[in-house]
Amino acid sequence: MTQFLDVAQMVRWIQRDGTEAILSTMTGYLEDDFRRWASFDKIPRVASHTPFGVIELMPTSDEQTYSFKYVNGHPQNPGRGFQTVTAFGLLADVDNGYPVFLAEMTLLTALRTAATSALTARVLARPDSRIMAMIGAGSQAEFQALAFRAELGITQLRVFDVDPAAVTKLQRNLEPLGFTITVAASTAEAVDGADIITTCTADKAQATILTADMIRPGVHINAIGGDCPGKTELDPRILERGRVLVEFPPQTRIEGEIQQMAPDFPVVEFWEVLTGAAEGRRSPDEVTIFDSVGFAIADFSALRCARDCTTDLQTSIDLVADPVDPKDLYSLVGALTPAR
Ligand code: NAD
Repeated sequence: MTQFLDVAQMVRWIQRDGTEAILSTMTGYLEDDFRRWASFDKIPRVASHTPFGVIELMPTSDEQTYSFKYVNGHPQNPGRGFQTVTAFGLLADVDNGYPVFLAEMTLLTALRTAATSALTARVLARPDSRIMAMIGAGSQAEFQALAFRAELGITQLRVFDVDPAAVTKLQRNLEPLGFTITVAASTAEAVDGADIITTCTADKAQATILTADMIRPGVHINAIGGDCPGKTELDPRILERGRVLVEFPPQTRIEGEIQQMAPDFPVVEFWEVLTGAAEGRRSPDEVTIFDSVGFAIADFSALRCARDCTTDLQTSIDLVADPVDPKDLYSLVGALTPAR
């Protein structure tokens, strides 16, 4: 039997344990897996692009466990009553290839993206960072804010979204939790005075959400919205000015902000910083940029975390046809076949 965590069970887990507590736990899982980066099979995700969006499969594996996530990205979806990003995924046993844990991953992706953003910012942002600008106040935004509070103690947000209703929703969700939110009239106004800038907009276009003149020395940029070919958020001059950290270069060069740069544009892999193989922030004035696209190993970590923390909430599903005699698959249906 395969263990299953559906949307209602995922919601029950998050409400029972608390979003920030889960984000902290998940950050630990991510850190463990980023530290043993070399032990994973890694390939850029397999993407199917259409004019409406993208559907992607994200596999990875270590010696014991295989995982994949199915995820879409459709920026026009909210206008049609659907979400931009939805996902599900599973863990399988490398030993016999059987799936062991299947889960909804729309909520889990928001948690893992936020936990990854906060983990990288904890390592790269100035330790005295207090104010975060958020450009884009859609589905990911609350999770990002909560992760930055859990990992860095950030409670002051300066927010801009082209859709004022999205900002109102963010205020409604976060102000009762103790965040101080300043609503900005533009991106430039939002980033003015911010120590950290999170861009989480959705537009299947080479957008320029941040321009170079908006970037002050010492800022950390957490750029999560540019995550597929032809979909970026940063002026390329920002990338030249700062130090760019990525998850997995072969995927980020196709999908991230650095798709705008030469194929040999220098980047640092985040696992290298975490393990001490590469330097993190080198001075208080350095501009650091996490060019996040979302990589399969983070989904692997998130699935492991969800599986381990929800054993009492999961149900068993019969996902694998598994006859008593492994060579007699037909035995499962033969008895139902009418005799001639
Ligand atoms: P969403 O559609 O719910 O929200 C996006 C918000 O951006 C909307 O409120 C929209 O009005 C706003 N926006 C669009 N253009 C803007 C602009 N020029 N200036 C300011 N605001 C603007 O999407 P979401 O689920 O919150 O995802 C946000 C982005 O993050 C998407 O592009 C998605 O693909 C990406 N994403 C990345 C990762 C990752 O791991 N890097 C993971 C999940 C989602």
